[in-house]
Amino acid sequence: MLEFVWNEERMMGVNDRDVRGPERKPPPEKGDAAPAVPSASKERGSDAPSLPASLSHEEMLRYSRHLILPEVSLEGQLKLKAARVLLVGAGGLGAPSGLYLAAAGVGRLGIVDFDVVELTNLHRQITFGTSDIGRSKLEAAAERLRDLNPEINILAHETRLTSENALEILAGYDVIVDGTDNFPARYLINDACVLLGKPDVYGSVFRFQGQASVFGFANGPCYRCLYPEPPPPGGAPSCAEAGVLGVLPGIIGSIQVAETIKLILGAGEILAGRLLLVDALKMTFRELRVRKNPACPVCGPGKTIRKLVDYETFCGARGQPVEASTAIPEISPRDLKTRIDAGENIFLLDVREPREYEICHIGGYLIPLAEIPTRVGELNPSRDTVVYCRRGERSAAAVAFLKRAGFSRVRNLRGGLLAWAEDVDPTLPRY
Ligand SMILES: [Zn+2]
Repeated sequence: MLEFVWNEERMMGVNDRDVRGPERKPPPEKGDAAPAVPSASKERGSDAPSLPASLSHEEMLRYSRHLILPEVSLEGQLKLKAARVLLVGAGGLGAPSGLYLAAAGVGRLGIVDFDVVELTNLHRQITFGTSDIGRSKLEAAAERLRDLNPEINILAHETRLTSENALEILAGYDVIVDGTDNFPARYLINDACVLLGKPDVYGSVFRFQGQASVFGFANGPCYRCLYPEPPPPGGAPSCAEAGVLGVLPGIIGSIQVAETIKLILGAGEILAGRLLLVDALKMTFRELRVRKNPACPVCGPGKTIRKLVDYETFCGARGQPVEASTAIPEISPRDLKTRIDAGENIFLLDVREPREYEICHIGGYLIPLAEIPTRVGELNPSRDTVVYCRRGERSAAAVAFLKRAGFSRVRNLRGGLLAWAEDVDPTLPRY
């Protein structure tokens, strides 16, 4: 569950300069205003369904507020009805996106997901209700969206999108909406979209910050043009570790739907060649120009990627902690409890943030992971030490650091406090 932490310095390096502010759009390129998707194009692809003849009276009523917009009108609503949109991920971004795409009358809405609904999803994934906990997200979302709009077709792809199935699944759609939250999936979707010539409507959220753009539109830049490489280890904590404001994916997901609808209608100015940065804490919307990278390995003239690659490996080399968990000495929650109960003198180190400590703790000495290097002098290298965090990932990074710093008797609490709550103390609050 990774979310993107954008790196402005690196982005500036890639894209030369910041052109923030209104009306600073890139110079128009050939075909920039042209409709991007087959269902909106005069030269509709042979695989694209033809525009329906008209709408039923009930559909006229349902979409009446669209129909009276000159930019939509009956013709635009028919384009929406003929459109085929694939939503990858039914979670944070996918929940609001799915609702608005269905409400807008997108005729064929595909959803790819393989997850189940959890209680921690509900503060932002508004498709789901409390009674859906434990259900397949795909099943729960399809039911909700069919209730919202029974006029549309919803296709459920209950699978993980992979290099093996992506081209086949994406081929059946005109626009791809990226509602995923991890780097392998983002690079996979980008590359598949570039290879197939389909627009990739991108969004990501992190704490109070969000991003949106449209990649691969009208020969514009792609995700790799903006981010040639996944972030370095530790550069992108997940939403589960870092948190996210619940409404933020609603804002970003809605922006993704607005762009998708414009792509289908062939209307307005598409968010291509521009990266929208939303800061919900300051409530600012800024825009950065994104240029096509001539050295881009997937969309540049000297492209080297001509088929999908192994994205887990590509991102794992940079996106995972330096040392694999197998190299980190661990202790299970039950073993730790047994040793504590036996009176062993074990020093517990908690590497979470103070606000997490307030929620729950098991008596550890608190030093947030980021402060370990500067506060390592507070710790005794010869003492039996067990490091813990919420899930065991940050603590594994801390153990790796402490081992390099000469701590020989330091171990990671496997599975963190979540595992402790599961196996030792069910009264410990989980978050
Ligand atoms: Zn590119």
